[in-house]
Amino acid sequence: MIQTVNPSNNEVIKSYQEISDNKLQNTLEKMQFAFEEWKEKPFVFRSSLFRKAAEVLRKKREEYSQLMTLEMGKPIIQSRAEIDKCVWVCDYYADNAEKFLTDEIIKTDSTKSFVTYQPLGVILAVMPWNFPFWQVFRFAAPTLMAGNVGILKHASNVSGCSLAIEEVFTEAGFPEFVFKSVILNSSRVKDLISNPLIRAVSLTGSVPAGKSVASAAGSQIKKTVLELGGSDPYVVLEDADLSETVQNCVNSRLINGGQSCIAAKRFIVVKELYDKFTEMYVDFMKQKKMGDPFDETNDLGPQASVKLRDELHEQVLRSINAGAKLLLGGFIPNMKGAFYPPTVLSDVKPGMPAFDEELFGPVAAITKAENEDDAIRLANQTVFGLGAAVFTKDIKRGEKIAKEKLNAGSCFVNQFVRSDPRLPFGGIKESGYGRELSVFGIREFVNIKTVSVK
Ligand code: NDP
Repeated sequence: MIQTVNPSNNEVIKSYQEISDNKLQNTLEKMQFAFEEWKEKPFVFRSSLFRKAAEVLRKKREEYSQLMTLEMGKPIIQSRAEIDKCVWVCDYYADNAEKFLTDEIIKTDSTKSFVTYQPLGVILAVMPWNFPFWQVFRFAAPTLMAGNVGILKHASNVSGCSLAIEEVFTEAGFPEFVFKSVILNSSRVKDLISNPLIRAVSLTGSVPAGKSVASAAGSQIKKTVLELGGSDPYVVLEDADLSETVQNCVNSRLINGGQSCIAAKRFIVVKELYDKFTEMYVDFMKQKKMGDPFDETNDLGPQASVKLRDELHEQVLRSINAGAKLLLGGFIPNMKGAFYPPTVLSDVKPGMPAFDEELFGPVAAITKAENEDDAIRLANQTVFGLGAAVFTKDIKRGEKIAKEKLNAGSCFVNQFVRSDPRLPFGGIKESGYGRELSVFGIREFVNIKTVSVK
C-alpha cells in the first residue's frame, strides 16, 4: 500500500493499492493497442480533445487545487495558478502541435526529400510532487499531441493527484489507455523501463532518481529526457534597481514553499550592494507569513514532508557549521506538520552545502562577489545548470551576461526564471538534458524520420 500524508498536520489522507505486475503488463498491452489507433488520428481530433481537457481543468479548478494543497502543502493561490497554467499548455499544443510537426521538404538530388515526425509509442513519465499537475501536463500535452500515448508513475505522496489527472483525460473523452496513471513504488521503475513496450522515459526529480532512470533506460537504448533540480544563481550587479531586485529574489526563493527546481537559490551580490541587498532581503523575508496553506493570506505552507523538511534543516545546520551566518529563521518551529520558516544565510561560500547542494525549501544563500567577473565565476561554480538570472539597469550588459556568460538552460535578465509553454525548458550538467515545452519539447519523443524519393 502507498499512503498519502497531509504535510500540514502529518495525518494520513488515504492508502492506495499498488498495481500488480500482471495488471501493469495488461495495461501496457492495452496502451500499445490504443497507440496504434491514436497515432492515425488527425491533429484536429487530438487538438479538440486537449481543448476539452482544458475545459475539464477549468471546471474542476477548485477541486484539483484543494487536492494539491492537501497532498503537498502548496499555498492554495499557487495551486489555482498551477491549474491555469495546465489549461494554457493544453491550449498551446492544441493550437501549435500540427505546425510544429509538419513535414519539412529539403532540397537534395532526389525528386523529393523530406523530414517527418512520427510518434514512438508508449512513453513513461516519472514525475515529482512539487508541481503535481503542471509537471504532468507539460509532459502529456506535447507527447500525446505528437501521437504517442503516456503512462504516468507519479510521486507516491501525490497519488490522489495522479488519479485525478487520469480523470481529466477520461472526462475530456480521450480514448481509453491513451493516458494512464499507475500507482507503484519507485523500486519497480527499473523493471518497467526494461519492458519492451516502453519506448522512452521522461523524468523530473532529483539527481539520484535521474541517474537511476537514465542508466536503466541507457542499458536498453531508450531515450530519456531528464529535468533534475538546480541551484539557480541570481547575479546582482552594482547598478541593479535594489528594491525591485530584492522583491524578485525573495518571491522566486519562496515560490511553492521554496520547492521549485527553478527557484532562486544562490544570490551572488557584488560587494558595493552586498550589505544593502542583504539587509533589505531579510526585511522582505520577515514579512512573509507561514501557516495553513488553505488560508489565502499565507505566503508559505508546510514543506512536502517531514523527511524533506528535516533534510533541509540539516543542510542549513551544516552550512552554519561551515561558516555561513544565520540572519533569519533556521529552526524547526513548534507546530504540527512539516513547516520550515523563511531562512536567510549570508557569507555563503563554495564548499558549504548552501552553495554546493540544492536547497529545496525557503532558504536563501547570499554570497559576496568582488566584481562582475567574480560573480559570474561563482554563479557557474556548480554541478547544476538549470536557470540563472542577472540584475542590472544596463540591459545590454545583462543580455550579454545571460547569453554568453551564465551556464544554464534558461537565463533571465531583471526577472525571475519561469517556465512558459512558448519557450524551451531544461538544463545542462547535472540539471539534466533534453528540452520540454515549445517546438523543442514536442520533438523529443518522435522519430525524426528522413524520407527520400528517387
Ligand atoms: P525524487 O527524485 O526521489 O522523486 C521524483 C520522482 O522520481 C517520484 O515519482 C519518485 O517516486 C521517483 N523516483 C525516486 N527514486 C527513483 C528511482 N531510483 N528510480 C525511479 N524513480 C524514482 O524526489 P524526492 O521527492 O525524494 O525529493 C528529493 C529531492 O529531489 C528534493 O529535495 C529536490 O532536491 C529534488 N527534486 C527536484 C525536483 C525538480 O523539480 N527537479 C522535484 C522533486 C524533487 P516515489 O515518490 O515513489 O519515490
